[in-house]
Amino acid sequence: MEPLDLPPELRRKLTRQARAAGQSEIGLLEQLLDTTPAASLYVSAPVNALVEGLYREDTTIRDILQRGDFGLGTFNDLDGEMVVLDGTVYQLRSDGQAYAVTPDTRTPFACVTRFRPWSEEVIDTPLDHAGLLALFDRLIPSHNMLYAIRLDGVFDYVRTRSVPRQDAYRPLVEVAREQPEYEFEDVEGSMAGFWTPDFMQSVAVPGYHLHFVDAARQHGGHLLEARPRHIRIALQHIPRLDLGLPMTLDYLTADLSRDTRDDLDEAEH
Ligand code: ZN
Repeated sequence: MEPLDLPPELRRKLTRQARAAGQSEIGLLEQLLDTTPAASLYVSAPVNALVEGLYREDTTIRDILQRGDFGLGTFNDLDGEMVVLDGTVYQLRSDGQAYAVTPDTRTPFACVTRFRPWSEEVIDTPLDHAGLLALFDRLIPSHNMLYAIRLDGVFDYVRTRSVPRQDAYRPLVEVAREQPEYEFEDVEGSMAGFWTPDFMQSVAVPGYHLHFVDAARQHGGHLLEARPRHIRIALQHIPRLDLGLPMTLDYLTADLSRDTRDDLDEAEH
């Protein structure tokens, strides 16, 4: 790398401050020049539209990947569960298998962020599902913030479901009653998801919402239960929300005034 052509006075100051902070000069410079905007969570459409059976919106995977490299969602016609990890989108259809996704594929609901975790913990103690949720509760400093949560590691047990492709306008809660479930034992894999405060329940699924995909990126779905054995948990707080409001006729003319809390609770847990 070329040496930085800084005025001597600035160069001396930088050297002094970097030494005092125990950092490299370039590290300190990057930190000072960091103009990255605060992370935001992009939600492509309010989740209550999905709950009311609006399973087609015009948001493409191309759009989604411009907004983030990490997250979850579903696909048009409710055709499976979406997992986004390291900028790759996986479609986990109702047969429990992963399929490749093209940039033109569309989604009625997806949540993504640029994942830049600020904390990582390695957990070596086997936990049951309640123990895992309690651990999350200890790791997140405030329940009024949005958080992105990534898990990688080995699980003694994972139970998922994947929604089956649907015609529009069937309420989500009805569809969810027929969803196939899958069980995995002694499985290695990753989970991507979020904590969403309860008061945002018409925007995104409130509480912890995670999607699982195995290490081979072949199987997975919406997480119903997990018993981790050895995992790394990476967390990012997200202080902003960027909510898309679809321009489809269905969305513009839908009645979204109903409180969908109970439906969501049944459909997602
Ligand atoms: Zn889900």
